[in-house]
Amino acid sequence: MVRAGLALVFGVMTSLGLAADRVAYTIQFDPLGNQALVEMDLPEGETAEKFWMSAWVPGDYERFDYGKTVSTISFFKDGEEVKLAGRDGVNGFVADEKFDSVKYTVKPSRGNFSYNLYLGRDYAWLSPAGVLGFAEGGLGKPVSLTVKKIDGWNIHGAIEGRTAGSSYTMDAKNHEEIGDSPVVMGKNLATAKFEVGGKPHFFVGFGNLAGVDVAAFGSMCQKAVEQGLKEFGELPYARYTFFGEFGNYPAGLEHGTSCRLGFWGNNAQEMSGLIFHEYVHAFNVKAIRPKELRPIDPLNPPVVDSLWWLEGVTDYFSELWRLRAGVISSEEFLAEMRSAYESTLRNPAYAKVSASESSRRVFEVRGSQGFGGVSYYTKGKIIGFVLDLMIRDASEGKRSLSDTFRTLYKETRDEVGYGRTMIVDLVRADASGEERAEELAKLIETAEPVPWNANLVKAGIVDRAGRLVKGNDLTERQKAVWESFFGKS
Ligand SMILES: [Zn+2]
Repeated sequence: MVRAGLALVFGVMTSLGLAADRVAYTIQFDPLGNQALVEMDLPEGETAEKFWMSAWVPGDYERFDYGKTVSTISFFKDGEEVKLAGRDGVNGFVADEKFDSVKYTVKPSRGNFSYNLYLGRDYAWLSPAGVLGFAEGGLGKPVSLTVKKIDGWNIHGAIEGRTAGSSYTMDAKNHEEIGDSPVVMGKNLATAKFEVGGKPHFFVGFGNLAGVDVAAFGSMCQKAVEQGLKEFGELPYARYTFFGEFGNYPAGLEHGTSCRLGFWGNNAQEMSGLIFHEYVHAFNVKAIRPKELRPIDPLNPPVVDSLWWLEGVTDYFSELWRLRAGVISSEEFLAEMRSAYESTLRNPAYAKVSASESSRRVFEVRGSQGFGGVSYYTKGKIIGFVLDLMIRDASEGKRSLSDTFRTLYKETRDEVGYGRTMIVDLVRADASGEERAEELAKLIETAEPVPWNANLVKAGIVDRAGRLVKGNDLTERQKAVWESFFGKS
């Protein structure tokens, strides 16, 4: 650990953390030094002896141990330095005596889908969960995060911040909320603002903006939000930001009131799958959450057996919402389903590992996709389609998986976590019968082949040499199911 040269910089920062009733973080980006300086002040009169960085961050189901990104750390009590006594595992730091303030430097890092900290030539990105540590007993306390602005750079936070001089301060109810509230700062932030459901929404573009039609991206995001409002009748946040990064790290990550979209192209239509997927997460995984993710335990990766629902069915709804919003045609929707099904046929792993096992064991392997070669994105997307076909058939086109989704939302949005069997119970309520119950259990808990044609036929869909098409001479019931998806065509 190198500490030389930091005292001066930290000296300047110390006076900022004055919010006495909350844990106050201050972060200063140092792009030239390729690091950030973080100070954490405990609430007035409080002390601690241990400090931890997160082992993993929400949405990225792989252990990264962000304690490894800390390059220097110092503890203080009433302004006097307290020695570092040792470590508590790879993420924990133990002080020699009680401290009331911690100062550390942290290197840029990234997970599977996003940077936690990125320091570019003309912009910087912070996703705080992997960057802001916490003291023992500190996770539940209210917090503030002050970002020191770089001269001439603009800033946008997922939480609306207060500006005072060169400081931009966001308040949050606890570590989890601030952790899930990214901030971008840059010379050129291209912002499109729109309102849906009386709530402000932002598309904030940055990175390589050459040839980017910001308004087109804003209006594609607006379509996703309008569809969300149509599906649920309300929006589960006060303000939402789509952070759109161009030409750097193509991947997406959902956050509580925002998402980071790493675009690999300039065409909003072609990027709409990513936009819709991350936006569906505002409902599924952020508002609707399993017990294991409520609250988030940053030190202990959870075992969640419904990631097939949280990721794969999110992807299914992303396609369904794009269809409903008129972004894709029914042919494109069906091609998406067929292509996911094709992936499960080509890969023998799908005959060995169930959707549920792929979810449960994701932390045993790398990549945050699943386990044993089975992607819970792909399998879950197929399961979503099959469940929807089952429910629409059972109700003769009157109900759908979207009703199940709404019920799940109503029952869990107010910080209630769903239990292990809740999703299956809700689907069963919409598609009852012994046979269906058995089929449902097989789909989720076993690696048996997905009953593809047997379910397609419910909507009168035929798999003709790898292409899903509408069959001939549909029965009244098939017609009702088909029309519930695609209208009278
Ligand atoms: Zn996702």
